[in-house]
Order: sequence, then structure tokens, then C-alpha cells
Amino acid sequence: MNDKLYHECYRHVCQARSLLENLQAWGFDTVTPVLKKSDVGSVVDEKIVPAPDVVKTLDELKDEVERCQRCSLARSRSKTVFARGNPRADLVFVGEAPGFEEDRQGLPFVGEAGGLLDRILFAMGLSEKDVYICNLIKCRPPANRNPAADELAACRPYLECQLSLLEPRVIVTLGRFAAQLLLAVQTPVSHLRGNWYQYQGVAVLPTFHPAFLLRSPAAKKLVWEDMKKVKQRLISEGCKLN
Ligand code: SF4
Repeated sequence: MNDKLYHECYRHVCQARSLLENLQAWGFDTVTPVLKKSDVGSVVDEKIVPAPDVVKTLDELKDEVERCQRCSLARSRSKTVFARGNPRADLVFVGEAPGFEEDRQGLPFVGEAGGLLDRILFAMGLSEKDVYICNLIKCRPPANRNPAADELAACRPYLECQLSLLEPRVIVTLGRFAAQLLLAVQTPVSHLRGNWYQYQGVAVLPTFHPAFLLRSPAAKKLVWEDMKKVKQRLISEGCKLN
């Protein structure tokens, strides 16, 4: 079996195992042997993945994430990665998933891409105390691969709960996955970026992920244009900047 086929098979086995674990958690002790592909998609998205238990605070949610075993990433993570920054900030950045350094430290955006995000904030006249930074996925995908659909579905309720507790005024999504998941679209981030959208009544501006900027420095000027719009919106809405 060649490497590509092996990894494809491994990915499907992980997804199947995660689906079975979710079914078990949902109270199924037998599984109908034939499921149409369309059935599986709707089951995973809407029924099988339960919402996080009712939590009242971010600390309670963080505790729940630290115990989470809902997807296969729980087995390979070193630490869960919940957030950094100010939970009272009006501006929230949502990235994709932890990388090596984030998994080691248990904090988001602390590697090379995080350094670039901090420099972007500095250029905006902001710092960590003005913003809250988190990711879609709270555990590192092995070898920094893209998150799988079942992992995104399993982890999404945590982000939704996190955002509802934070009540931000403005959300900036970083990269393709965060924009497409929050806005429920498949549009490329290159088309979404720089425009305003809504998530649950909150203004959302998608932009490129800092990791992309490290590979494509020419895109920095586009992100800077986006960040000027964000700063302008924060000021015009009288948002608090510490
Ligand atoms: S990625 Fe999310 S759903 Fe998967 S184990 Fe980690 S916290 Fe749980």
C-alpha cells in the first residue's frame, strides 16, 4: 500500500471510529449496518455531536475542553488550547487549530504565526489585553494537517459556546476554515476577506491567516487594509480599547 493510500485509509478509519464514539455517547448501542452518505453527514452535523454541557463561565468551558475526548485529536494532543487575551475584549480573533508550539504551551498563536499576529496588533495600536484569541479546534491535528470534517463538527459547539459567553462586538476570522465555518459558506477566503458579514448578530471580517502571510508576504498589505477597517469599526462603534 503506498503512503497516500495508507493515509487516506487511516483518515477514514479515524473518522469512522470518531463517528462510532459519538453514536455511543448519544446512547446508541447498535448501529444500522447500512448508512447512506447523506445520512452520515446530517447525523454528524446535527444530532450525534452533542452541545457542550450547559456552562455558565469561560472557566467552566475551559475545564470541559480539557477533559474532552470527543474526537481522535484527544489522543495525540499534549495540551488543549483554549484561548489567550482579554475575555472582556470587544474584538475576538478566531484562527484554525493549534500548531506544535501551541500544543506544547497550551496557548493559541504563540509560534511564528502568533508572533506575526502580535506584530499586526501592535501596528493597529493594540495588544493582547485589547483582544481575545482562540481557534476553531482546541487540539492540534497531527503534523499540522488540516482539521477533518468530523473534528470540526465535534469541536464547533465549544467555539459557539465560547463566543456566546464572550459577546464580542467584532470577530476577525483568520484563514479559510474559520471564515467558512462561522459564515457557513464554501467561498474561498480570498473572496471573503475584507468584507463584513454577520455571525449571530456580531460583525465578522474574514482575513488571511498569519501562517499564510509567512508563506506569502505580498498578502500582508491586504491584511493591513482589513485591519484598518476593523480598527475603524471599533472606534466608530465606541468599543472599549484598553
Ligand atoms: S479537538 Fe475539540 S472535540 Fe476534539 S478532542 Fe479536542 S476539544 Fe474535543
